[in-house]
Amino acid sequence: MKNAIDIQGITKKYGNLTALDNVTLSVPEGMMFGLIGPDGAGKTTLYRILTTLLSPDTGTATVAGLDTIRDYKKIRAEIGYMPERFSLYPDLTVNENLHFFASLFGVRVKDNYDLIAPIFNQLAKFPNRRAGALSGGMKQKLALGCALIHHPKVLLLDEPTTGVDAVSRSEFWDMLATLKEKGITILVSTSYMDEAQRCERIALIDKGRILDVNNPTNLVEGLGENLYNASAKDMYPLLEALKSLPDVKNCYTFGATLHIVTEDDFNPADAVRRLSDMGLADVKIYPAKGDIEDLFIKLAGNEE
Ligand code: ADP
Repeated sequence: MKNAIDIQGITKKYGNLTALDNVTLSVPEGMMFGLIGPDGAGKTTLYRILTTLLSPDTGTATVAGLDTIRDYKKIRAEIGYMPERFSLYPDLTVNENLHFFASLFGVRVKDNYDLIAPIFNQLAKFPNRRAGALSGGMKQKLALGCALIHHPKVLLLDEPTTGVDAVSRSEFWDMLATLKEKGITILVSTSYMDEAQRCERIALIDKGRILDVNNPTNLVEGLGENLYNASAKDMYPLLEALKSLPDVKNCYTFGATLHIVTEDDFNPADAVRRLSDMGLADVKIYPAKGDIEDLFIKLAGNEE
């Protein structure tokens, strides 16, 4: 199978800060590939290199078989890019934005109608509304429509659903699934676990380095085992007490509660008894579902 994206040993520094550290990664043609990492991991820098907006210090990358430096003009016709920040003209209407982006690529909006029909059907309710006045979810759908106007081979989406409500997020991913069915390769970054799980493969990136590439099930599998949620009336003493238990391997704050990673023979009811004996009130421990943060904490632990 050919690769739609091939990244070989890319390093990019901003002054003393290494934003990308010898990144090698490939995305086969037609795949829905996720790039998962916390803020500052280097995702946007990688997107900017792939979209020819930034040059790497060392290393090479090809997109749709074209080199990001040598073939930068040709690449732009083959890719659709949705940057992290809203990239459309807020004062132009929905229709005007679509026609503007079509004219940039020398196509007519209707040329690739089949590809964008599901998005059009949603946008058709307010063709004359200014883009700036759309809801977050509709803005992202319009941005996706504009990114697809010239029927790119590869879609590069930088956190397209951040800050978008759950229903619109899900609709957006349904649209991505239909685009994948039409053979478009998609590289999408996200910090949502449910979205990561809709990808065929994901790469975990942190501090400019790729930590792992796998299918999401393999990466998340095993996280649920020996992972529990813990809470008590006083959370700080609970954290300290849990750390002192020999069958608790790791314990960290997770939202309003704690997540604990335990040995195989850990028994929650027995742990609640022991913690109560230590003077802690209202202790609750129950199995937790692993999230992306758990994954990164586990990987960071493995690295140490
Ligand atoms: P992400 O998209 O994963 O949040 P970025 O690629 O935006 O990561 O940033 C990676 C690192 O590079 C961060 O530490 C960020 O502060 C830094 N960085 C990004 N752009 C610049 C820039 N233009 N100048 C200096 N530092 C930058």
